[in-house]
Amino acid sequence: MSRLFTPNRALLGFLLALSLVPLFAAPFTVTLVNYIGLYALVALGLVLLTGIGGLTSFGQAAFVGLGAYATAYLTTRHGMSPWGTLIVGMVITTAVSLALGFITLRLSGHFLPLGTIAWGISLYFIFGNLEALGGHGGIDGIPAVDLFGLELGSGRAFFYVIWATLLAAIVTTQNMLDSREGRAMRCLRSMTMTEAMGINTLWYRMVLFMIAAQFACVSGWLYAHLQRFVNPTPFSLGHGIEYLFMAVLGGTAAVWGAVFGATAVTFLKEWLQDLLPKLLGATGNFEMVVFGLLTIIVLHRTRDGLWPILMRFIPQREGKKTVEPALPLPRRDLPTTGREVLQVKNVTKRFGGLVANDRMNLTVRAGEVMALIGPNGAGKSTLFNCISGVNPPTEGEIHFMDQRIDALSSREIAKLGMSRTFQHVRLNQDMTVLENAAIGAHLRGRKNFVQSAWRLDREEERRLLWEASHQLERCGLGEHLFDAAGSLPLGKQRIVEIARALCSDPTLLLLDEPAAGLRHLEKRALAELLAKLRAEGMAILLVEHDMDFVMGLADRVVVMEFGEHLAEGLPQEIQTNPKVLEAYLGGVDA
Ligand code: ADP
Ligand code: MG
Repeated sequence: MSRLFTPNRALLGFLLALSLVPLFAAPFTVTLVNYIGLYALVALGLVLLTGIGGLTSFGQAAFVGLGAYATAYLTTRHGMSPWGTLIVGMVITTAVSLALGFITLRLSGHFLPLGTIAWGISLYFIFGNLEALGGHGGIDGIPAVDLFGLELGSGRAFFYVIWATLLAAIVTTQNMLDSREGRAMRCLRSMTMTEAMGINTLWYRMVLFMIAAQFACVSGWLYAHLQRFVNPTPFSLGHGIEYLFMAVLGGTAAVWGAVFGATAVTFLKEWLQDLLPKLLGATGNFEMVVFGLLTIIVLHRTRDGLWPILMRFIPQREGKKTVEPALPLPRRDLPTTGREVLQVKNVTKRFGGLVANDRMNLTVRAGEVMALIGPNGAGKSTLFNCISGVNPPTEGEIHFMDQRIDALSSREIAKLGMSRTFQHVRLNQDMTVLENAAIGAHLRGRKNFVQSAWRLDREEERRLLWEASHQLERCGLGEHLFDAAGSLPLGKQRIVEIARALCSDPTLLLLDEPAAGLRHLEKRALAELLAKLRAEGMAILLVEHDMDFVMGLADRVVVMEFGEHLAEGLPQEIQTNPKVLEAYLGGVDA
């Protein structure tokens, strides 16, 4: 959380200095700072898109153009008021970004960047070639914005509009990121986990893409009314790349990286445009070469850009270190103890020629701990993936709470009350332990990203965080709530995953090697916790290698070997089963 917040005093100083710029600075500086505000707004969208969502867009300049041309055309040709055209521009941007996002965001990897390049190029040529939009000559005579009867015709007056807009965008973005919605967005890079927590990752990628497009569109609108003239040049692909430089140089891990990046690039560009032709004795866009090299160096040295380096020199405000008590969240009705909640019937999973699960069968009842054991590579984790919908079975049926689930996605299965941990820990290492656990409670909140941006989610947020802290306390992690998850030893990170799963208030809990990496006392505490959950009526399916742990805790045991069901029974039966001894325990006990 701490990286999303900025120090108080430094911020106040910055705002004060900023507010004085139009009063005392030279006209040239005012213009420059105006442009920095416009650029930073676009770069802020890219921080969201790239830093948070892990997505790249080269086409943001085209969205800037959309906002600029929408108002240029509608105000000059149709006499619309600039405020009306702002709304029209944003509506068009919403439609375009959703359509573009819908087509490209479901495809992984490079399709989005390619899509945005295609979109960037085509819109640029539309601006340049459409007669109605003035062709390459552009549109002039754009009116000034009128605010409560005050005409904001000068750059000095418009300065405050630009920077107030940018600051509002920064504040709302920070609010959004520090919420249930923001936590989901910040975990988008770990798609398998996020979907398994019931989160619709495609939707959140779309939202990020749309917000970034809106910021660009508003920047374009501001640009048009600052310049009072538009032509296609500033909306080209080259400018789209420049915006990306700003975000990457400044830093995509923090919202202020956008402002810093826009400032650094703008001033550096001014300076280089003066300096380089003198040095090289020729004119040309040499500064772009320098930016290219600089970006490569920055990415190489510090992937989070220059902002975190700057932050080292500014004293940081301590983040909030308490969780406010709140009403507990409503709970699911648990099935009566003894009722079968999970039935795995003849499940087969093939990976090409490899049969990882071969007609596996098992059941789990409410109020019992079922252990699934077997040597490495037996297919236990694969079966977990089949059950939880992470990687569905090739054949067979799985029923959960009287519903057939083998064709459902992991997200839909999570909604039915199943939650899991992963053998290879999947946490957001930079988020706090508390925030990571709260991801599990995602489905228990309702507030959307607009509500969280405007802080209308606080009551619900308190309840979600209270739940997360309660589950973490229960798991013995009460003293680590505000530590970065990545700073914990691996064994404890596994426990964070258990707390995260518990935050979803599950009927069935799937734990893949939860005791691995724990010390003796920690194992005992975990066994006590699981016994308590069982007593409350939860169904638990557990994969574990520590036989003392399994035999002391499990009600029933299923043994797998080579993907097949080898044996099943009470712990003591399994311990004396000759087949099991031979196949699995044999080497140990003999
Ligand atoms: P366990 O959890 O019991 O140690 P796994 O379920 O991880 O075993 O693996 C069972 C077998 O399936 C192994 O041979 C493994 O290499 C293979 N396997 C697991 N996941 C995949 C995958 N996504 N693609 C191909 N093979 C896989
Ligand atoms: Mg495994």
